[in-house]
Amino acid sequence: MNFIEEIVAKDLQEGKNDGRIQTRFPPEPNGYLHIGHVKAICLDFGIAEQFGGVCNLRFDDTNPVKEDVEYVDSITNDIAWLGFKWGHIYYASDYFDQLYELAIRFIKEGKAYVDEQTAEQIAQQKGTPTEPGQNSPYRDRPIEENLRLFEAMQRGEIEDGKMVLRAKIDMANPNMHFRDPIMYRIITTHPHHRTGTKWKVYPMYDFAHGQSDYFEGVTHSICTLEFVVHRPLYDYFIDQFVPQGEYRPHQYEFNRLNITYTVMSKRKMLQLVKEGLVAGWDDPRMPTVCGLRRRGYTPEAIRSFIDKIGYTKVEGMIDVGLLEHTIREQLKEKAPRVCAIFDPVRLVITNYPADKKETIVAENIDGIAELGTREMPFGRELWIERDDFREEADKNFFRLSPGGREVRLKNAYIIQATGCDKDAQGRVTTVYATYDELSKSGTEGGNRKTKATINWVDTDTALDAEVRLYDRLFAVEDPSADERDFRELLNPDSLKVVNCKLESSLAKAQKQDHFQFLKQGYFVVDDDSTAEHLVFNRTASLKDNWQKKA
Ligand code: ATP
Ligand code: MG
Repeated sequence: MNFIEEIVAKDLQEGKNDGRIQTRFPPEPNGYLHIGHVKAICLDFGIAEQFGGVCNLRFDDTNPVKEDVEYVDSITNDIAWLGFKWGHIYYASDYFDQLYELAIRFIKEGKAYVDEQTAEQIAQQKGTPTEPGQNSPYRDRPIEENLRLFEAMQRGEIEDGKMVLRAKIDMANPNMHFRDPIMYRIITTHPHHRTGTKWKVYPMYDFAHGQSDYFEGVTHSICTLEFVVHRPLYDYFIDQFVPQGEYRPHQYEFNRLNITYTVMSKRKMLQLVKEGLVAGWDDPRMPTVCGLRRRGYTPEAIRSFIDKIGYTKVEGMIDVGLLEHTIREQLKEKAPRVCAIFDPVRLVITNYPADKKETIVAENIDGIAELGTREMPFGRELWIERDDFREEADKNFFRLSPGGREVRLKNAYIIQATGCDKDAQGRVTTVYATYDELSKSGTEGGNRKTKATINWVDTDTALDAEVRLYDRLFAVEDPSADERDFRELLNPDSLKVVNCKLESSLAKAQKQDHFQFLKQGYFVVDDDSTAEHLVFNRTASLKDNWQKKA
């Protein structure tokens, strides 16, 4: 059990909240979910599952300027795809009436005031953690005036930015969040995705979040460590209207997920998307859930990764190699291994009859019979990789080269190169070879060993495919720690597109099907792939550079 699960288990044992366990995942619908959110999701939903509780989804939709239904829809889709089930879908906007009433109550009790200063003036008066702030000149205006002005704000009579409602707490508090935090601001420029133009004033996140938890009956409000300093403020707001000793939510914080060679900020991701630096939120290089899905990551792999990293109270950075390792671990055992020739050159087997065709039956993964077999047409002309042939080879080159060395065509015959054709530039255009009819794999002669095996695809039936070779989006390990603008740190080689020749069995591949292209890596059928234009994305290379650190 991690430390939060231990707290929950203890609370259950002690009969807290009458044995009720209720969590929530509270995204702001201002962007797509990323793998950092998945860490929170796995804990929020996982705790509810594990302890017989419920986890709800709550959209903290308090800022119509940045929020959109597009994000609401993508968030629900992504959570369902990950395999989690929520109890209800709530919205902070469901509580706008209650929160407004609460604000009025605060004003009437002398705990809130309307400030007419600019945002800059308010910021200047904040002070620093070691220096107290200064009181606003509007801090002590009469209750009646505060009420009248706040209601005028809501009626749309005050321009955006001209007034805010602030909590009257303590401008000298060592916790900066207590220095008269803003409770409400005016937003009339953007309609709200659910409440339209009903509201002209919107609660700040800090005035909505804790109360929303309370209204819903959340018992364990789990979030990331940056909210530790907000917790006393959430508790303060609740203490103002909930009697001591009665139910209230408790917040627990864990360390955020940060991964090397990527950014984990919705703001930066939005910039990448808006500025066309990636192809969209679901670009396979993005750390978003939809990006990872398109890259070929499975929910199981993502959840297994989250399991591996665990939950603590110390911020840190996770090696992206671990994430890549996790998907390889999965695909290694289930993705059929097929032939794809990335840099094709024609091979002609001169002693193979021109009118003959045969069908090679190949195991999907060598040695794992349960994973089935597939058929590969074989004939006189094949595509092979250009670098599997050298006209002149040294003693360390064991693949095709004239001069007698034997090479096995994967799952098929042993051949020997006899020569090649070249164009005017000296580039090889055709390789010639002879085959040994008695060396076919699966027959007695098939046991004969060669020093090298090469991949091939029959030219008559080969499929053309676009293959997108994705790599890490950033060239530096920690883009957020770098002084340069994060957009200057993008890896220029994060996408290479090649056209390759695939074995014909891939005509049957469906979207999201996974394959290992032998010697090349793990690939998935892209969402845009069609029978006329096949598209595959590289999920991961074959080489695993993840080393378990002792
Ligand atoms: P913003 O940058 O817009 O504040 P956010 O990433 O905090 O965005 P929210 O929609 O507020 O996004 O996040 C919802 C929940 O996901 C929060 O409880 C937050 O603590 C959690 N969360 C966000 N980023 C991470 C992360 N990198 N690791 C773990 N949890 C995260
Ligand atoms: Mg947030």
